[in-house]
Amino acid sequence: MSNWLYDALTTAPDAALWIDNADGRRLTYGDLRALSGRLAHALADYGVEPGDRVAVQTDKSPEALALYMAVVRAGAIYLPLNTAYTSTELAYFLEDAEPRLFVCAPKRRDEALALGVAVATLGVDGVEGDLLALASKQPHSFQSVRRGPDDLAAILYTSGTTGRSKGAMLTHRNLLSNSLMLKNFWRFTSDDVLIHALPIYHTHGLFVASNIVALAGASMIFMPKFDAAAVLAAMPRATAIMGVPTFYTRLVQEPDFNRQTTASLRLMISGSAPLLAETHQKVAELTGHAVLERYGMTETNMNTSNPYDGSRIAGTVGPALPGVELRIVDPASGKPVPDGEIGMIEVKGENVFQGYWRQPDKTAAEFRADGFFITGDLGQRDAQGYVSIVGRGKDLIITGGFNVYPKEVEAEIDALPGVVESAVIGLPHGDFGEAVTAVIVAEPNARQSESDIVSALKIRLAAFKNPKRIIFVDELPRNAMGKVQKALLRQTYAKLYAEQA
Ligand code: AMP
Repeated sequence: MSNWLYDALTTAPDAALWIDNADGRRLTYGDLRALSGRLAHALADYGVEPGDRVAVQTDKSPEALALYMAVVRAGAIYLPLNTAYTSTELAYFLEDAEPRLFVCAPKRRDEALALGVAVATLGVDGVEGDLLALASKQPHSFQSVRRGPDDLAAILYTSGTTGRSKGAMLTHRNLLSNSLMLKNFWRFTSDDVLIHALPIYHTHGLFVASNIVALAGASMIFMPKFDAAAVLAAMPRATAIMGVPTFYTRLVQEPDFNRQTTASLRLMISGSAPLLAETHQKVAELTGHAVLERYGMTETNMNTSNPYDGSRIAGTVGPALPGVELRIVDPASGKPVPDGEIGMIEVKGENVFQGYWRQPDKTAAEFRADGFFITGDLGQRDAQGYVSIVGRGKDLIITGGFNVYPKEVEAEIDALPGVVESAVIGLPHGDFGEAVTAVIVAEPNARQSESDIVSALKIRLAAFKNPKRIIFVDELPRNAMGKVQKALLRQTYAKLYAEQA
């Protein structure tokens, strides 16, 4: 094989459909080969050489996805950036990653140039940008640069919910081994049509969804963003959908989300954030589908998945995937804990990244001597091997010397009548160190007061787990992948107990 990842991603026949785009354009695998070839020539014209980083912050389009493949073909390292990042944030990433080229949306060209990097533009909706203009003058065939399994294919910055984002270095082997295994595990074939409404700057939409589809020679209905009505309209043409939990919480509110409209689907997958058991049940009630929940992260790709055949258990992320070793340990000693006990989730396998870009100390701190990566997620495993995520280790609350796992308190609050959802956080408190605090979204006409909730919880939870204060909000702050931003909540309410400090 000359280019380990690219070659595997493009074995489908030329005429096979790759993308059915929201604007009506249909691109085949032949188009992908030609487009990525032209773009790879254009990158070379911009001076990109094997091993260089190419940072990309563009709107979602088939061309933007072909650019990822072109960078890989050119032997360079693909570095996608969230479209929401501001100039100040970009300055950090560009300084840290030192890309040879930064590809951005035409509207951000001047802003990008001010950051002192080489800039090319790639647009959508008729605004082509200079990269595609240059590519269109290039030959479509390109001799892919030789890359082996241990060469870097991508650097993905973590979402940085705690502290600065770190660049996770992923090799051709990391990406290909995980995607190949998932393609088989979730039974993707060239007959599949996946609804793709995820962003492509994040591992979920970029690698899990797009790589699996390409490996299978399947096709995607490609949408610029999630829109419940548009997704619903596309469903009769699709066989599978991959989404974050928000997709499903929105879909269940659509009157047409039912057995008929979802009849052609064989698989609904959820990940990137916890899917409420209630949503899982609601989808099953309305459509007859058991959503398959899986767990992964930027650094490791996918680690666990509920089974394709067999029970998909709500509130769990399933057993470890083939080729992934997973253990749950006492965070302090690193010793495995018995089944059913909460501990730190650690993983090892071909899926696990090579470390953080230019951060040897942080890398060393997150790996054990025997090669296991410390995920930072707390979880427990049952006797059947199913893993449940309890939350991020950094979200654990220590109050008066006791450990409180937010998920346990959230589950009790969410079960109360009139509550839509909740986020439980620890806030600085003079007496307890941290005080358990609940941020709650109530149903529109619900009338419970703070004290009603606290007294309802009193009979369900040990006193030290019971929230000291309840804050009602209209909605919880979430990032684009549907993760509740607890660090932001902690910051917003940092002074709540200041008078006790
Ligand atoms: P990211 O690197 O942005 O993909 O975020 C990875 C983190 O998302 C993991 O470390 C988990 O904390 C969380 N996560 C991913 N999938 C799930 C899931 N199915 N349930 C709960 N948390 C999840």
